[in-house]
Amino acid sequence: MHTFEFKRPASPQAAVAGAARAKTAQQGADVRFIAGGTTLLDLMKLDVETPAQVLDINRLPLDKIEATPDGGLKIGATVRNSDLANHPSVKRDYPVLSEAILAGASAQLRNMATTAGNLLQRTRCVYFRDTAMPCNKREPGTGCPAITGANRMLAILGTSEHCIATNPSDMCVAMAALEATIHVQGVKGTRAIPIGEFHLLPGSTPSRETVLEPGDLVTHVTLPRPTSGSKQTYLKLRDRASYEFALASAAIVLTIAGGKVTRARIALGGVGTKPWRSPEAEAALVGKAGNTANFRAAAEAALRNAKPQSENKFKIELAKRCLTHALQLATNS
Ligand SMILES: Cc1cc2nc3c(=O)[nH]c(=O)nc-3n(C[C@H](O)[C@H](O)[C@H](O)COP(=O)(O)OP(=O)(O)OC[C@H]3O[C@@H](n4cnc5c(N)ncnc54)[C@H](O)[C@@H]3O)c2cc1C
Ligand code: SF4
Repeated sequence: MHTFEFKRPASPQAAVAGAARAKTAQQGADVRFIAGGTTLLDLMKLDVETPAQVLDINRLPLDKIEATPDGGLKIGATVRNSDLANHPSVKRDYPVLSEAILAGASAQLRNMATTAGNLLQRTRCVYFRDTAMPCNKREPGTGCPAITGANRMLAILGTSEHCIATNPSDMCVAMAALEATIHVQGVKGTRAIPIGEFHLLPGSTPSRETVLEPGDLVTHVTLPRPTSGSKQTYLKLRDRASYEFALASAAIVLTIAGGKVTRARIALGGVGTKPWRSPEAEAALVGKAGNTANFRAAAEAALRNAKPQSENKFKIELAKRCLTHALQLATNS
């Protein structure tokens, strides 16, 4: 493992100033914040990440879950995943988020992992994590061996000829369906970024994964006021029942009145290069009766543009069944 300087900034402002000296906030950043460390330390041990400086943000005052004046929820960047999943307001008003977090990793990991760290976790593509292999995301311009290689776990939506890596987060899928906003403090002040605009598609620059710039510190995430009477669920399909990433998952936030869907927020995991909100599925459902035929039609719409690779064609049908079944579970139908 390479050597690095470890610092503990005393305030968010000092953390931002320290990280602003980095050349990039993307892959290969020379200054990195560390929160739970469950992603960053693994990647440092593998020499995938080799920061010269690591800034520990665990003592900053970013660890609260609070109600917002408009009836929503403010979640601090260093709130542990386990605390968030088990918070009474989250269990009551945003159960899809609680379920998604509890479907991820293991109890020990969730006790360490933080909100911002989860938002910024990296792909599990095996080539990305192996410095003996080429990888456009890790070393731009070297190629993407996954396209002709081991791609069973990788994405079928949002891919490019340069990268087909899946975003592995469960939490982010629920946050996409809940229309979360990511709050960032940077050198030029604060910004509020809708989660749909926070992660980037790989395009021709897969090493650039988010809109973050050097110095940017995620301070908190806000959730809008809960939609009253909404039916929510998170369904995750994977190779084994725990400690495994999604092959396909679905987050549902649905409102039904008079037998018809009046509002739908749907996001998919395990299949997209970013947490995958599906406006196609939402449009297919609104105004329709909440029944299996309409749920399946929404799933068909969600996967219409899917592009499978050599080993993951099965994900198209799997994701359709996952979404259909999640809608059935959410509505008890
Ligand atoms: C064995 C294993 C199994 C797992 N299974 C799952 C799973 O099934 N589902 C799932 O969703 N996840 C899974 N995970 C991933 C886990 O959820 C993440 O590792 C965790 O959420 C990362 O949080 P952290 O606080 O430890 O991040 P860290 O490792 O501390 O940081 C991760 C990244 O975020 C950056 N960062 C952290 N905080 C901030 C901030 N405030 N502002 C800006 N940048 C910041 C860091 O610089 C770093 O680049 C698994 C992990 C492991 C090791
Ligand atoms: S899919 Fe992306 S992360 Fe995986 S090898 Fe290709 S470029 Fe690298």
